[in-house]
Amino acid sequence: MNWQSDSNADVTAFAATLEQWYERHKRDLPWRHTRDPYRIWLSEIILQQTRVAQGQPYYERFVDAYPTVADMAAAEERDILRLWQGLGYYSRARNLHQTAKWITSEREGKFPGSNRELLTLKGIGAYTAAAIASFAFGERVPVVDGNVYRVLARVFGITEDITTTAAKKTFAQRAVDLMAHAPDPATYNQAIMEFGAIQCTPVSPDCLLCPVQQQCVAFQTGRQHKLPVKAKKAAVRERYFNYLVFYQTDSDGQQQVAMRERTGKDIWQSLFDFYLIETDEPKHTLSDMEFPGEVQALVHGGVLMSLQVTGIQLLSHQRVKAVFHLIELPTDRDMALPTSLIWYSTAEIGRLPKPVLITTYFERTFG
Ligand code: SF4
Repeated sequence: MNWQSDSNADVTAFAATLEQWYERHKRDLPWRHTRDPYRIWLSEIILQQTRVAQGQPYYERFVDAYPTVADMAAAEERDILRLWQGLGYYSRARNLHQTAKWITSEREGKFPGSNRELLTLKGIGAYTAAAIASFAFGERVPVVDGNVYRVLARVFGITEDITTTAAKKTFAQRAVDLMAHAPDPATYNQAIMEFGAIQCTPVSPDCLLCPVQQQCVAFQTGRQHKLPVKAKKAAVRERYFNYLVFYQTDSDGQQQVAMRERTGKDIWQSLFDFYLIETDEPKHTLSDMEFPGEVQALVHGGVLMSLQVTGIQLLSHQRVKAVFHLIELPTDRDMALPTSLIWYSTAEIGRLPKPVLITTYFERTFG
C-alpha cells in the first residue's frame, strides 16, 4: 500500500519510520554534537559546497581557527578565503564573514533565533535557515534540499519537474505536511537528509533493505531511476584563460612572481591569479595572441621559459581551460608592471588565497 501524503496516519508513519531508521544508521559527524547555531550554520554552508568526507576537515579547521561567531567576525577576509581554499564558490566564504561581522556588531554576537529572522541574513536561504532553526532551536520547519526532493519524489511518486516553480511549491507543501507530524523536528530533518544521502541515493538506492520499500511508489513501479524528474541543465560555458606568469630572480637568488587580486563580478573574486588575457577560443602559443599595450614590453623583453596547457576546472556553470606562459624578466632593466600586478615572493604567494587551478600551477612551477 502506498503512503498518501494527505493522510494523517500515513504521514505520521513516514516521519516516525525515518526517525527510527536515522537512530540506527546515522553517521557520527561533529556538527551533530552541537546545538550552537554558529557551528551548524558553518557546517551547512560548507556542505553546500562539498560532500561530508571532504567537508569535515574544513569544518574542523574553521572551528579550530574561529570557535565563535565573534572570532570569525574579527578575522581578515583573506585568512577566511585561504581556509576556504579548494571549496570553490568563494562568495559563500565572503558572505559567511560579512554575516558574522553583522551578527557581532548589530546583535552582540547573538544568532537570530527563528527561521524568519535567519532568512534576513546575507547568504542564508530557505534551506540553511530551516536547518539552523530546526537543529539549533527545534523549530518545526522542514528542510528541502536535493536529498529531500529525491526521497519525496520516489516515496510519494511525485512526477513534477523539480526545476519548476510549481513543483517547488508542491514539494514544499508536502514537506510541511510531513514535518507537522514528525515526533521531533530536528531529528526528522536530519533523518530525511541522511536517508537521501546514504539509503535512497541518486544512482544506487538500497531498496532491498529500505524500511519504506512497501510504501514507496518508485520501488513498487520500478521507477527509482526516473524520479525525481529534473530538466537538463543549461549548457556549460567554455572559457579560455591565457595566463602570463611574469617572474624575476633578485640578486639573492629569490624568485618573485607578479600577481594580482581579482576584482569585479566574476569567478574567484578577491582571490589572486596572474596576468590574464581571456579569449573566445583556445590560443596555445604567444604568437597566437594579441597583447594589451601595458604588457607588450614585458612579453617582448622577457624570455619564455615554459608553456603549460593545464587546468580544466569545472565550476557549476562554466569550464575554464587555462594556458600558462611562464616568462622570466631580466632584473638588469627597469620594466614597469601594469598597475594591477604586484611582485610577491614565493613565500608570500603561498599565503595568498588562490583558486585551486592557480595553486596547483604555482606549486608545480615554484614549489
Ligand atoms: Fe528510495 Fe528505494 Fe527506499 Fe524507495 S525503496 S525510498 S527508492 S531506497
